[in-house]
Amino acid sequence: MEFFEICKIQDIHFCQICQNIIKINLDIKSKEEYNPKNKKFVQLNIPSNDELSKLEFNFNNNDKNIYCSLCLNILDIFNTKYTSLLKEIKSLINEYDHNYIKLVIKFSSIFNFIFWFINTKLIKISNLNLNYIFECDTIRQIFIKKYTKFFAENLEQKFDNNEYNRDIDLIINYDLNDIIYQKFNEVIRNSMKNKDNLKQENINNILLDKNTGRAMIKSITSDLCDIDILYKNLSNTFSLEGIISSINLNFFLAPTPLYISGNYIKLSREVGQNHFGRDFNISSIDEEIKKFFAKIFLNSEKNDYILSASGREDRNVRMLGSGRNFIYEIYNSKKKFGIDFEKINEQFNAENKLVQIKNLQLSNKSIYNKIKKEENAKIKKYLAVIYCSEKIEKNMIDNLIKENDNLTINQITPIRVLHQRSLKQRIKQIISLREIERINDHFFIIEITASAGTYIKEFINGDFGRTWPNLGSLLNCECDILQLDVKDIFY
Ligand SMILES: [Zn+2]
Repeated sequence: MEFFEICKIQDIHFCQICQNIIKINLDIKSKEEYNPKNKKFVQLNIPSNDELSKLEFNFNNNDKNIYCSLCLNILDIFNTKYTSLLKEIKSLINEYDHNYIKLVIKFSSIFNFIFWFINTKLIKISNLNLNYIFECDTIRQIFIKKYTKFFAENLEQKFDNNEYNRDIDLIINYDLNDIIYQKFNEVIRNSMKNKDNLKQENINNILLDKNTGRAMIKSITSDLCDIDILYKNLSNTFSLEGIISSINLNFFLAPTPLYISGNYIKLSREVGQNHFGRDFNISSIDEEIKKFFAKIFLNSEKNDYILSASGREDRNVRMLGSGRNFIYEIYNSKKKFGIDFEKINEQFNAENKLVQIKNLQLSNKSIYNKIKKEENAKIKKYLAVIYCSEKIEKNMIDNLIKENDNLTINQITPIRVLHQRSLKQRIKQIISLREIERINDHFFIIEITASAGTYIKEFINGDFGRTWPNLGSLLNCECDILQLDVKDIFY
């Protein structure tokens, strides 16, 4: 008997689209071998673009009252669920600056489980060597291919599914309600092999939730459960109508991230670069900039802004001169076009007393990658207020390093950072030392130019001999550092 007749007798129906897909795949199947011994299916044959474009693809009016046993009515674009979805999207989408939208379809991975069940059912009932497996990816591709135009027309928007052109991803997300997860888990628990030997916590790890991955579903439907029992239990517990009616449909709009770069100047010894390891009542560079950006880009979720900088200074160290390069990845920005960066840069500087910004500009991923790498390729100039236990004669500090003759120092990981850095010896260069201001015979402001990654505090105080030579050993006295600024960074 023909496949569709057999299904009909068993009260299994398909929408017009799925009927066509099955027809294509029955043809494909006839060219292939099925091995009943190991029950091996040839994995997924999505109809080719060519085949798809030939198919009649509107969800037929006659299909309205059936439950499609293949696509679970997800391809029923005239369903009222989609009507209200479109309405909601329409009311939100124009809040976001955009030209092009990309349509993205997502399924929570429990759908892999459901499609395993559907395929098994079709194979068992039809007794055909149906080696075609219908799964999330099939629906996804058909949906996007056939319905992008429908969305464009109904939302009155331009769609472009190309990675590089789109400004927003419109993500349509399919999930099931919580009650049905519980029911599925009950069935899985009752179908497990050797469940008497399994500890409860192991069973809990196997159970499905919204975050379960595909790999786990694959092992549930291959070796963790007795497949025949699992299938039988599923058939007894679930009706197709039940599954279809518990499908939740929602959407979110995800603008492509913006990259904004600049240099920051840190004028305060109270603020750090970010929040790590400190009191939450004190602000940080990151927080000051984020707070400002939230007003510009009209988004304020905690994770909407990710700061990367080429290195960092200690909190009690100011960052002066031309500042330190930074770049923000900004997510969910509603604003994208027509931002006058020069103007908002000025605005930020006028409003902020702790941090100043230079060269704020629209940036991109390749600059992001460059800033991430920059840490190892630069020279830094510092200003330090130091104390020396002995009287220091004029020019003594200036004469410690001759021009074009770097001083090589060995630094064993400083005690103060041992808890976060590995213990090792680093070789660094002190490029120049200059006395800038003599406060008296013991107190000075000096300028130090050093290779990237030099621990300046330790070069001055010696860190109990772990940095050698150090300023104290060179001047033959005890030296200490009272204050430090990064005067400039050379990239
Ligand atoms: Zn269907």
